[in-house]
Amino acid sequence: MSEVFDLACELIRRRSLTPDDAGCMGLLAARLQRDGFHCEHLRYGEVSNLWATHGRGESVLAFLGHVDVVPSGPESEWSSPPFDPAVRDGNLYGRGAADMKSGVAAMVVALEQFVARHPDHAGTIGLLLTSDEEGPTNLDGVRRVAEHFHETGQGIDWCVVGEPTAKEKLGDLIRVGRRGSLSGVLTVRGVQGHVAYPELVRNPIHQFAPALAELAATRWDDGNADFPPTSFQVSNISAGTGVYNVVPGSLAAHFNFRFSTASTAASLRERTEAILERHALDYAIDWNLSGEPFHSPEGGRLRETVVAVCRELCGVEPEQNTGGGTSDGRFIAPLGAEVIEIGLVNATIHKIDECASLDELERLPAIYSAIAGRLLG
Ligand SMILES: [Zn+2]
Repeated sequence: MSEVFDLACELIRRRSLTPDDAGCMGLLAARLQRDGFHCEHLRYGEVSNLWATHGRGESVLAFLGHVDVVPSGPESEWSSPPFDPAVRDGNLYGRGAADMKSGVAAMVVALEQFVARHPDHAGTIGLLLTSDEEGPTNLDGVRRVAEHFHETGQGIDWCVVGEPTAKEKLGDLIRVGRRGSLSGVLTVRGVQGHVAYPELVRNPIHQFAPALAELAATRWDDGNADFPPTSFQVSNISAGTGVYNVVPGSLAAHFNFRFSTASTAASLRERTEAILERHALDYAIDWNLSGEPFHSPEGGRLRETVVAVCRELCGVEPEQNTGGGTSDGRFIAPLGAEVIEIGLVNATIHKIDECASLDELERLPAIYSAIAGRLLG
């Protein structure tokens, strides 16, 4: 078949369950080095990160991706073994076929094509890969690399994230930012006692109920052109000893904000605590910020370029939004980068029989190299 197909298959064959890169980085670095890229291996703990660059100019365009995959689930439920790439009905099957080894293969082939065509290109073109995107913490992946970039003064102007973003066909949806995610574990303390002696207890369920009603009814912001309004959701709530005659001594609630750029983590924390205090609760919150929102507004050079490439090479008008979960782009945006995500169809990601369209896989390198060509060619 083709170069991008062969490389995608080679990557799928490696069982790179987070944080094990299973040799993917060595394979890709060796290839890129042959094409004149400078490869820096940034290993933190068990995580492999690769930063490959070509050129030394000031404007920096970075492609971003991950080589790790989520577990396959029961292999017996797959129509063909998950780490043995297979072609059926015009699709390439295997764990990572969509998320996102095909994207990584396409970015690598695109970079090779770009430097072959433009050996003296403007700026610096780079590829940043991690083996810790799917893990629970992402501590040693792009988050750590971004800290390293911050310390060493490595700027990034434009970042193309090759995650699968398309809905039904290549180019139909791009992400122009992502919402922030802020979680909290709330403990409301009361006084336990017999239900028949209300004067001797302080019921944390009764105390929390009106505060919860206010939290759920609050309009945190109105969102803006690219963001829906911030949403507050309680995912778990627990209290009680399991018997009918005891008022519990405490209540625990887990909640999450998915928030727009019209709010900040600090403003949401403050407003939440102000509501709880107004209801005179004895409480504590363990906050966990997994990412501030980021946004690449209309008119930005990268966003306009990606939209034009979708129109011209895919023949579609891309939907541009900030939906879905967050992505590693959240660590690169604070470096001052414009971040846009564009990739394959995401319908089967993390599922049994994950797959990518062969036709779209073959077309993807040209899309990435056209973006590079328009910015640095
Ligand atoms: Zn992914």
